[in-house]
Amino acid sequence: MVKTKLNLLETLLYRSHYDDAGYMIFQNDSKFDIQGLINIGLLRPTTPSEFYRCDCFDGGGEVIWVDNPKFEKPIPSVRCGCGFYRIEPEEIQRWEIVLSALLRKIGEAMGFSAPFNEVSPRLVWQLGRRKRRDFYYIRCVDFDVRRTLRDIFLPHPTAILIVPTMADIEFIDCLPNRCFPIEEIGTLDDSLRLTIDMTSIDAELEPVEDEPKRQRRRLVKIDQLIAELKKHYQEAKDYYYVSGGEILPRPTQQELAKRIGTSQDVVSRCLKDEKGVVLRTLWENAENLGAILNS
Ligand SMILES: [Zn+2]
Repeated sequence: MVKTKLNLLETLLYRSHYDDAGYMIFQNDSKFDIQGLINIGLLRPTTPSEFYRCDCFDGGGEVIWVDNPKFEKPIPSVRCGCGFYRIEPEEIQRWEIVLSALLRKIGEAMGFSAPFNEVSPRLVWQLGRRKRRDFYYIRCVDFDVRRTLRDIFLPHPTAILIVPTMADIEFIDCLPNRCFPIEEIGTLDDSLRLTIDMTSIDAELEPVEDEPKRQRRRLVKIDQLIAELKKHYQEAKDYYYVSGGEILPRPTQQELAKRIGTSQDVVSRCLKDEKGVVLRTLWENAENLGAILNS
């Protein structure tokens, strides 16, 4: 679906995609509160536009500055399908979007406080942390930067990415991260106050579980304990023959903990873990002659 009429927030977001952070041009954007945007630091005056839009079939033409001794200053003019004519300097007045100000507005509307850490120059900023998630803002996405983004975010799959527009999301579908476009969750009211609907973000975020990490750590411990018990079986078998039939006592949980450099608590939890079946069997039979000799 092609949107023909952009609102102010969408306009700012779309324009801020460009390398120079984008422009507002009086001729196109006069319906917006340009002075208000200047007042809050979102726009600053810059060089005039080099193109003038005309309603004729040519659609306009390049601005030509004509030096005429009759006038003090060169006069902007345009040549297009309807002829060569003079235009008013105000019509080609142009302001650039102040990227840092736009970013600050977005971050603060989400409850984060500036300054934000620039992770990749003029591309990625870390806004802050919320609900155990790191939030990032990505200014513009195209094919050239996908690799950079992959390098940054593949190691951080739980990070939340905030992007300007819906179109940005399609570019980064190669990332595992949840992604929200400002275009969808933000509104800029008439007094130029930006609000961002964080409840919709929060609602979609599952709490980050430490469980997988803890489980991985425990599996490592279980493996270490299995290795220790197997060592014990070997020693017990040797001892049985050397001693003429004596059975080596099973190492205590405390001893095992010491051997693998952990606490007795951890050993106890490993023994009760649902993934600890092999460990449990080894533990329970560690003084069982048949098990020892068959090991
Ligand atoms: Zn024309």
